[in-house]
Amino acid sequence: MAEKITPRSSDYSQWYIDIVTNAKLADYSPVKGCMVIRPRGYALWENIQRVLDGMFKATGHVNAYFPMLIPESFLKKEAEHVEGFSPELAVVTYAGGEKLEEPLVVRPTSETIIWSMYQKWIHSYRDLPLLINQWANVVRWEKRTRLFLRTTEFLWQEGHTAHASAEEAQAETLKMLGVYKTFLEEWMAIPVLEGEKSESEKFAGAVKTFSIEAMMQDKKALQAGTSHNLGQNFAKAFDVTFQTKDGNLDHVWATSWGVSTRLIGALIMAHSDDKGLVVPPRLAPVEAVVIPVFRKDNVAEVSAYAQALGDELKGLGLKVELDLDDAASPGWKFAEWEMVGVPVRIEVGPKDMEKNQAVLVRRDTGEKLFVPRGEVAGKVRELLLAIQKSLFDRALEFRKANTFRVASYAEFKTLMEGEGGFVQAPWCTSRECEAAIKEDTKATIRNLPFELANVPVEGGCLYCGKPGHRWAVWAKSY
Ligand SMILES: [Zn+2]
Repeated sequence: MAEKITPRSSDYSQWYIDIVTNAKLADYSPVKGCMVIRPRGYALWENIQRVLDGMFKATGHVNAYFPMLIPESFLKKEAEHVEGFSPELAVVTYAGGEKLEEPLVVRPTSETIIWSMYQKWIHSYRDLPLLINQWANVVRWEKRTRLFLRTTEFLWQEGHTAHASAEEAQAETLKMLGVYKTFLEEWMAIPVLEGEKSESEKFAGAVKTFSIEAMMQDKKALQAGTSHNLGQNFAKAFDVTFQTKDGNLDHVWATSWGVSTRLIGALIMAHSDDKGLVVPPRLAPVEAVVIPVFRKDNVAEVSAYAQALGDELKGLGLKVELDLDDAASPGWKFAEWEMVGVPVRIEVGPKDMEKNQAVLVRRDTGEKLFVPRGEVAGKVRELLLAIQKSLFDRALEFRKANTFRVASYAEFKTLMEGEGGFVQAPWCTSRECEAAIKEDTKATIRNLPFELANVPVEGGCLYCGKPGHRWAVWAKSY
């Protein structure tokens, strides 16, 4: 089983694909660029969705659903928006046996259809804030795709909020970025850098875009979530005005924010190893698997012991699976369950029966513990917490060890051509310098991180050497 996975050190991209396919998370669809999410992958998405949905509701948001087909003219109402999304649009021109009078766009994102409805729903300051989230699929016709990371159709959530003031919209934008950071760090065990996107990397139609950026094990960045302050751009495009408290008429202020099935790609690349997937316990669909280690002459007894233990753990609320298949060898099963990333393996054999114990094995470190039968449930719970923390700590250490400051642009280039990593460097804020570096090294500004916002800028711009105005973090990215 294990040899089906290409080692990370020899081909990182192939390693990733091997895990996605061998752990049965997703498969290629008959339509190029689309993805079939298999039950093990979808179970991860359901857990992500359940937790985030709770966090959105706890911050005052409600769910709604808008149609996936949008009149083409809607997209044209916001100039930057249409320019940004045009190359990726799928358009329906023929339906019901005839050519449509107006082509319909399959949503690449829903600002336009949602703001066309907000125009009907918002009249007064009393209608604000309007805090709506939608769980949906979107389509962006991508030329180069990779399972979970970039697919033509993907699943996501998109929050679309409307506010009575610029300050309130900005506060909402940052609040939701914070929700994403909490989710990534506390649930996915992935440390992230919060920050503002540069002008050229912001969302088409936004005033400001903020992102959370995570470092993968190949030291590339992955943008894990974005939150946009849309200002009054969409309200103006769709003529959404409201009566203010003092009786004036003003355009509404907006935000939008989203994360997608891309998070599953992040989870895989942040934690997994050459044996397969490693799932942070708080998101694991299966927390522990019980595997009886039997020979032909003791299958029945050992299975019964395993079954009793498994049932007991399930009764105590643990998400446990039992693997009683007597056609496969224990070694094969160990590898199989390592491949799918179950955090704790519980082995029981005849010796463990004699000693009234079980053997617990951590997926992340391979550490083995011999635990008395009566203490198994408690120990599994303890291990789940320990693994969750250790995955986060390891990822944070890795990011720290691979974040650099450079003395010169030449040093930066050498680093990006070689080992890679995150580079913190002053940036003069010119588009030209940013574009030249991208052209030259493929590295982009991931964001202008909050954590460096109050750190005095030392030295000149990474590229032109002129006085640096802002700290930026540069990296190659997914
Ligand atoms: Zn510069």
